[in-house]
Amino acid sequence: MQLSYPLPRSPSGKAYQYSPNPSAPPRLFLIGDAPETRAISEEHRLAIRREPGPGQTVCPYSGFVADDDEFIHFSDIEAVKKQVAWEATADVEDHIADLAKNFNRRQGKGGLISIKMDFKPSRRPRPLAIREDLLRELTCNVCAREYAVYAIALFCPDCGAPGYGQHFEREVELVREQVALADAQDEAGRPETAYRLMGNAHEDVLTAFETALKTIYRHLVREGLPDKAEGLLKKKTVGNAFQNIGRGRSLFKEIGIDPFHVLSEDDLELLRLNIEKRHVIGHNLGIADEHYVELTQSDQPGETVRLIGGEIERFAALCLRVVLDLEKSLLPGPPDTHEQTS
Ligand SMILES: [Zn+2]
Repeated sequence: MQLSYPLPRSPSGKAYQYSPNPSAPPRLFLIGDAPETRAISEEHRLAIRREPGPGQTVCPYSGFVADDDEFIHFSDIEAVKKQVAWEATADVEDHIADLAKNFNRRQGKGGLISIKMDFKPSRRPRPLAIREDLLRELTCNVCAREYAVYAIALFCPDCGAPGYGQHFEREVELVREQVALADAQDEAGRPETAYRLMGNAHEDVLTAFETALKTIYRHLVREGLPDKAEGLLKKKTVGNAFQNIGRGRSLFKEIGIDPFHVLSEDDLELLRLNIEKRHVIGHNLGIADEHYVELTQSDQPGETVRLIGGEIERFAALCLRVVLDLEKSLLPGPPDTHEQTS
Protein backbone atom coordinates (compact mmCIF):
# COMPACT_ATOMS: atom_id res chain seq x y z
CA MET A 1 0.00 0.00 0.00
CA GLN A 2 1.35 3.38 -0.88
CA LEU A 3 0.00 6.53 0.69
CA SER A 4 0.95 9.99 -0.31
CA TYR A 5 0.68 13.00 1.90
CA PRO A 6 1.29 16.58 0.86
CA LEU A 7 4.32 18.05 2.62
CA PRO A 8 3.58 20.76 5.19
CA ARG A 9 4.14 24.20 3.66
CA SER A 10 5.35 27.54 4.98
CA PRO A 11 3.09 30.63 4.78
CA SER A 12 4.62 31.46 1.40
CA GLY A 13 3.93 27.90 0.20
CA LYS A 14 7.41 26.39 0.45
CA ALA A 15 8.40 22.97 1.79
CA TYR A 16 11.37 22.16 4.01
CA GLN A 17 14.35 20.42 2.46
CA TYR A 18 17.45 19.06 4.15
CA SER A 19 20.68 18.54 2.28
CA PRO A 20 22.00 14.99 2.57
CA ASN A 21 25.51 16.43 2.34
CA PRO A 22 26.79 16.69 5.94
CA SER A 23 29.46 19.22 4.98
CA ALA A 24 26.95 21.76 3.69
CA PRO A 25 25.78 23.58 6.81
CA PRO A 26 23.14 24.81 7.62
CA ARG A 27 21.66 22.17 5.25
CA LEU A 28 18.09 23.45 5.67
CA PHE A 29 16.50 25.25 2.75
CA LEU A 30 12.99 25.66 1.39
CA ILE A 31 11.67 24.92 -2.05
CA GLY A 32 8.60 26.53 -3.55
CA ASP A 33 6.72 26.53 -6.79
CA ALA A 34 7.81 27.04 -10.35
CA PRO A 35 5.74 28.06 -13.37
CA GLU A 36 4.10 25.06 -15.04
CA THR A 37 5.89 25.55 -18.30
CA ARG A 38 9.49 26.59 -18.18
CA ALA A 39 12.06 26.88 -20.87
CA ILE A 40 15.78 27.22 -20.29
CA SER A 41 17.16 29.79 -22.68
CA GLU A 42 20.10 28.83 -24.89
CA GLU A 43 22.48 31.19 -23.06
CA HIS A 44 21.67 29.50 -19.74
CA ARG A 45 22.17 25.93 -20.99
CA LEU A 46 25.79 25.90 -19.86
CA ALA A 47 24.87 27.09 -16.37
CA ILE A 48 22.52 24.28 -15.33
CA ARG A 49 23.48 21.04 -13.62
CA ARG A 50 20.24 19.27 -14.44
CA GLU A 51 17.04 19.74 -16.38
CA PRO A 52 14.72 21.41 -13.82
CA GLY A 53 11.75 19.47 -12.47
CA PRO A 54 11.12 16.44 -10.26
CA GLY A 55 13.56 13.58 -9.84
CA GLN A 56 16.61 15.11 -8.27
CA THR A 57 17.50 18.10 -6.13
CA VAL A 58 20.69 20.15 -5.93
CA CYS A 59 22.02 21.18 -2.52
CA PRO A 60 22.08 24.99 -2.76
CA TYR A 61 24.97 25.22 -0.30
CA SER A 62 27.29 22.68 -1.92
CA GLY A 63 26.01 21.69 -5.38
CA PHE A 64 25.63 18.05 -4.27
CA VAL A 65 23.01 16.35 -6.47
CA ALA A 66 20.86 13.46 -5.20
CA ASP A 67 17.37 11.99 -5.57
CA ASP A 68 14.50 14.13 -4.27
CA ASP A 69 13.79 11.54 -1.54
CA GLU A 70 17.18 12.12 0.04
CA PHE A 71 16.32 15.75 0.62
CA ILE A 72 13.19 15.09 2.69
CA HIS A 73 13.45 16.98 5.95
CA PHE A 74 13.39 14.83 9.11
CA SER A 75 10.59 16.93 10.61
CA ASP A 76 8.44 16.15 7.57
CA ILE A 77 8.97 12.42 8.11
CA GLU A 78 7.83 12.96 11.71
CA ALA A 79 4.83 14.95 10.52
CA VAL A 80 3.78 12.19 8.10
CA LYS A 81 4.14 9.54 10.83
CA LYS A 82 1.92 11.59 13.14
CA GLN A 83 -0.56 12.09 10.34
CA VAL A 84 -0.71 8.35 9.59
CA ALA A 85 -1.07 7.53 13.30
CA TRP A 86 -3.82 10.10 13.69
CA GLU A 87 -5.75 8.76 10.71
CA ALA A 88 -5.34 5.16 11.85
CA THR A 89 -6.67 6.06 15.31
CA ALA A 90 -9.57 7.93 13.76
CA ASP A 91 -10.39 4.88 11.56
CA VAL A 92 -10.26 2.49 14.52
CA GLU A 93 -12.45 4.81 16.57
CA ASP A 94 -15.00 5.10 13.76
CA HIS A 95 -15.07 1.31 13.58
CA ILE A 96 -15.62 0.89 17.32
CA ALA A 97 -18.31 3.57 17.27
CA ASP A 98 -20.11 1.59 14.53
CA LEU A 99 -19.77 -1.62 16.54
CA ALA A 100 -21.25 0.09 19.58
CA LYS A 101 -24.15 1.46 17.55
CA ASN A 102 -24.92 -1.98 16.06
CA PHE A 103 -24.64 -3.64 19.45
CA ASN A 104 -27.05 -1.14 21.00
CA ARG A 105 -29.51 -1.56 18.12
CA ARG A 106 -29.52 -5.33 18.64
CA GLN A 107 -30.41 -5.06 22.33
CA GLY A 108 -34.07 -5.87 22.83
CA LYS A 109 -36.11 -3.39 24.79
CA GLY A 110 -38.01 -4.13 27.98
CA GLY A 111 -35.86 -7.07 29.17
CA LEU A 112 -34.83 -7.63 32.72
CA ILE A 113 -31.29 -6.51 32.07
CA SER A 114 -30.43 -3.84 29.59
CA ILE A 115 -26.88 -3.40 28.33
CA LYS A 116 -25.77 -0.32 26.44
CA MET A 117 -22.36 0.15 24.93
CA ASP A 118 -21.09 3.64 25.24
CA PHE A 119 -18.06 4.69 23.28
CA LYS A 120 -16.45 8.11 23.51
CA PRO A 121 -13.94 8.78 20.71
CA SER A 122 -10.84 10.72 21.74
CA ARG A 123 -11.43 13.44 19.13
CA ARG A 124 -7.84 14.53 19.17
CA PRO A 125 -7.30 17.37 16.72
CA ARG A 126 -5.58 16.58 13.45
CA PRO A 127 -1.82 17.10 13.97
CA LEU A 128 -0.59 20.42 12.67
CA ALA A 129 2.90 20.96 11.30
CA ILE A 130 4.18 24.52 11.36
CA ARG A 131 6.72 25.50 8.73
CA GLU A 132 8.36 28.89 8.78
CA ASP A 133 9.76 30.88 5.91
CA LEU A 134 13.38 31.97 5.78
CA LEU A 135 14.37 35.60 5.26
CA ARG A 136 16.20 35.15 2.00
CA GLU A 137 13.66 34.31 -0.69
CA LEU A 138 14.83 33.99 -4.28
CA THR A 139 13.50 33.07 -7.67
CA CYS A 140 16.07 31.40 -9.90
CA ASN A 141 17.05 33.61 -12.82
CA VAL A 142 17.48 30.56 -15.00
CA CYS A 143 14.59 28.16 -14.24
CA ALA A 144 12.18 30.44 -12.30
CA ARG A 145 11.98 28.06 -9.30
CA GLU A 146 11.22 29.78 -5.99
CA TYR A 147 13.39 28.84 -3.04
CA ALA A 148 14.64 30.17 0.27
CA VAL A 149 17.98 29.72 2.00
CA TYR A 150 19.89 30.93 5.03
CA ALA A 151 22.00 33.99 4.21
CA ILE A 152 23.96 32.94 1.18
CA ALA A 153 23.87 29.94 -1.10
CA LEU A 154 25.70 28.99 -4.25
CA PHE A 155 23.22 27.14 -6.47
CA CYS A 156 19.56 26.91 -7.43
CA PRO A 157 18.18 23.70 -5.82
CA ASP A 158 16.22 22.84 -8.96
CA CYS A 159 18.41 23.45 -12.03
CA GLY A 160 21.70 23.85 -10.16
CA ALA A 161 22.63 27.09 -11.91
CA PRO A 162 24.82 29.38 -9.80
CA GLY A 163 22.71 31.73 -7.65
CA TYR A 164 25.69 33.24 -5.87
CA GLY A 165 25.73 36.55 -7.79
CA GLN A 166 22.00 36.96 -7.31
CA HIS A 167 22.55 36.87 -3.55
CA PHE A 168 25.04 39.66 -3.69
CA GLU A 169 22.78 41.68 -5.98
CA ARG A 170 20.17 41.41 -3.23
CA GLU A 171 22.73 42.68 -0.70
CA VAL A 172 23.47 45.67 -2.92
CA GLU A 173 19.75 46.35 -3.21
CA LEU A 174 19.41 46.30 0.59
CA VAL A 175 22.33 48.68 0.96
CA ARG A 176 20.70 51.09 -1.51
CA GLU A 177 17.54 51.01 0.59
CA GLN A 178 19.55 51.74 3.73
CA VAL A 179 21.24 54.71 2.05
CA ALA A 180 17.84 56.05 1.00
CA LEU A 181 16.65 55.74 4.62
CA ALA A 182 19.74 57.60 5.81
CA ASP A 183 19.19 60.39 3.26
CA ALA A 184 15.62 60.77 4.44
CA GLN A 185 16.78 61.09 8.06
CA ASP A 186 19.32 63.71 7.06
CA GLU A 187 16.70 65.74 5.22
CA ALA A 188 14.44 65.48 8.25
CA GLY A 189 17.11 67.25 10.31
CA ARG A 190 18.47 64.18 12.07
CA PRO A 191 22.10 64.08 10.89
CA GLU A 192 23.30 61.89 13.72
CA THR A 193 20.77 59.16 12.94
CA ALA A 194 21.59 59.55 9.25
CA TYR A 195 25.29 59.11 9.95
CA ARG A 196 24.65 56.01 12.02
CA LEU A 197 22.50 54.47 9.29
CA MET A 198 25.11 55.29 6.64
CA GLY A 199 27.75 53.69 8.80
CA ASN A 200 25.68 50.53 9.12
CA ALA A 201 25.04 50.39 5.37
CA HIS A 202 28.75 50.78 4.73
CA GLU A 203 29.61 48.08 7.22
CA ASP A 204 27.02 45.75 5.70
CA VAL A 205 28.72 45.95 2.32
CA LEU A 206 31.97 44.72 3.78
CA THR A 207 30.29 42.02 5.88
CA ALA A 208 28.40 40.73 2.84
CA PHE A 209 31.53 40.84 0.70
CA GLU A 210 33.58 39.01 3.30
CA THR A 211 30.88 36.34 3.67
CA ALA A 212 30.59 35.96 -0.10
CA LEU A 213 34.35 35.51 -0.52
CA LYS A 214 34.58 33.10 2.39
CA THR A 215 31.63 31.01 1.18
CA ILE A 216 32.91 30.51 -2.36
CA TYR A 217 36.46 29.99 -1.16
CA ARG A 218 35.35 27.17 1.16
CA HIS A 219 33.37 25.57 -1.62
CA LEU A 220 36.13 25.78 -4.23
CA VAL A 221 38.73 24.43 -1.83
CA ARG A 222 36.50 21.45 -0.92
CA GLU A 223 35.83 20.76 -4.59
CA GLY A 224 39.28 21.37 -5.99
CA LEU A 225 41.61 20.36 -3.17
CA PRO A 226 39.67 17.85 -1.05
CA ASP A 227 42.86 16.40 0.46
CA LYS A 228 44.11 19.77 1.63
CA ALA A 229 40.68 21.20 2.52
CA GLU A 230 40.83 20.49 6.23
CA GLY A 231 44.10 22.33 6.68
CA LEU A 232 43.26 25.19 4.36
CA LEU A 233 39.86 25.83 5.90
CA LYS A 234 40.99 25.87 9.52
CA LYS A 235 39.52 28.76 11.44
CA LYS A 236 43.01 29.91 12.30
CA THR A 237 44.01 30.00 8.64
CA VAL A 238 40.93 31.73 7.26
CA GLY A 239 39.90 33.90 10.23
CA ASN A 240 39.11 37.38 8.98
CA ALA A 241 41.55 37.17 6.05
CA PHE A 242 38.86 38.26 3.61
CA GLN A 243 38.64 41.66 5.29
CA ASN A 244 42.00 42.33 3.75
CA ILE A 245 42.77 42.40 0.04
CA GLY A 246 46.31 41.06 0.31
CA ARG A 247 45.48 38.22 2.68
CA GLY A 248 42.33 37.31 0.77
CA ARG A 249 44.29 37.23 -2.44
CA SER A 250 46.96 34.93 -1.04
CA LEU A 251 44.34 32.45 0.18
CA PHE A 252 42.69 32.31 -3.24
CA LYS A 253 46.11 31.74 -4.79
CA GLU A 254 45.95 28.19 -3.40
CA ILE A 255 43.18 27.43 -5.86
CA GLY A 256 44.69 29.39 -8.72
CA ILE A 257 42.27 32.31 -8.63
CA ASP A 258 42.86 36.02 -8.26
CA PRO A 259 39.45 37.30 -7.09
CA PHE A 260 40.40 40.93 -7.79
CA HIS A 261 41.70 40.58 -11.32
CA VAL A 262 38.58 42.30 -12.70
CA LEU A 263 39.42 45.52 -10.84
CA SER A 264 41.74 48.26 -12.06
CA GLU A 265 44.42 49.73 -9.78
CA ASP A 266 42.11 52.67 -9.03
CA ASP A 267 39.23 50.34 -8.22
CA LEU A 268 41.46 48.36 -5.89
CA GLU A 269 42.55 51.55 -4.18
CA LEU A 270 38.91 52.54 -3.62
CA LEU A 271 38.17 49.07 -2.27
CA ARG A 272 41.15 49.24 0.07
CA LEU A 273 40.15 52.69 1.29
CA ASN A 274 36.60 51.59 2.01
CA ILE A 275 37.82 48.56 3.94
CA GLU A 276 39.95 50.92 6.08
CA LYS A 277 36.94 53.19 6.52
CA ARG A 278 34.95 50.31 7.83
CA HIS A 279 37.49 49.79 10.59
CA VAL A 280 37.33 53.44 11.57
CA ILE A 281 33.53 53.50 11.59
CA GLY A 282 33.25 50.17 13.34
CA HIS A 283 35.92 50.49 15.98
CA ASN A 284 36.44 54.19 16.48
CA LEU A 285 32.90 55.59 16.19
CA GLY A 286 33.79 57.31 12.96
CA ILE A 287 36.70 59.37 14.24
CA ALA A 288 39.60 59.21 11.81
CA ASP A 289 42.79 58.05 13.45
CA GLU A 290 46.30 58.81 12.24
CA HIS A 291 46.62 55.59 10.32
CA TYR A 292 43.47 56.36 8.37
CA VAL A 293 44.55 59.93 7.64
CA GLU A 294 47.87 58.69 6.35
CA LEU A 295 46.03 56.33 4.05
CA THR A 296 43.49 58.77 2.62
CA GLN A 297 45.55 61.96 2.77
CA SER A 298 42.28 63.84 3.04
CA ASP A 299 40.40 63.73 6.32
CA GLN A 300 42.04 65.31 9.31
CA PRO A 301 42.54 63.18 12.42
CA GLY A 302 39.59 63.51 14.76
CA GLU A 303 37.24 64.51 11.94
CA THR A 304 34.26 62.32 11.42
CA VAL A 305 34.93 60.20 8.40
CA ARG A 306 32.82 61.53 5.57
CA LEU A 307 30.33 58.99 4.43
CA ILE A 308 28.47 59.69 1.31
CA GLY A 309 25.71 57.48 0.01
CA GLY A 310 27.10 57.53 -3.52
CA GLU A 311 30.46 56.32 -2.30
CA ILE A 312 28.88 53.44 -0.43
CA GLU A 313 27.06 52.42 -3.58
CA ARG A 314 30.30 52.56 -5.58
CA PHE A 315 31.94 50.38 -2.94
CA ALA A 316 29.07 47.89 -3.21
CA ALA A 317 29.26 47.95 -7.02
CA LEU A 318 32.98 47.09 -6.94
CA CYS A 319 32.32 44.17 -4.62
CA LEU A 320 29.52 43.00 -6.91
CA ARG A 321 31.88 42.94 -9.89
CA VAL A 322 34.27 40.70 -7.99
CA VAL A 323 31.43 38.40 -6.92
CA LEU A 324 29.93 38.12 -10.42
CA ASP A 325 33.31 37.21 -11.83
CA LEU A 326 33.90 34.59 -9.11
CA GLU A 327 30.51 33.11 -9.89
CA LYS A 328 31.92 31.78 -13.17
CA SER A 329 33.95 29.28 -11.17
CA LEU A 330 30.66 27.66 -10.06
CA LEU A 331 29.61 26.70 -13.57
CA PRO A 332 29.34 22.95 -14.11
CA GLY A 333 31.64 21.00 -16.39
CA PRO A 334 35.36 20.50 -16.57
CA PRO A 335 36.98 23.27 -14.53
CA ASP A 336 39.53 24.11 -17.24
CA THR A 337 36.80 25.48 -19.53
CA HIS A 338 36.01 28.27 -17.09
CA GLU A 339 39.50 29.06 -15.91
CA GLN A 340 40.21 32.68 -15.23
CA THR A 341 42.59 34.50 -17.50
CA SER A 342 44.50 36.49 -14.94
ZN1 LIG B 1 17.11 27.21 -11.28
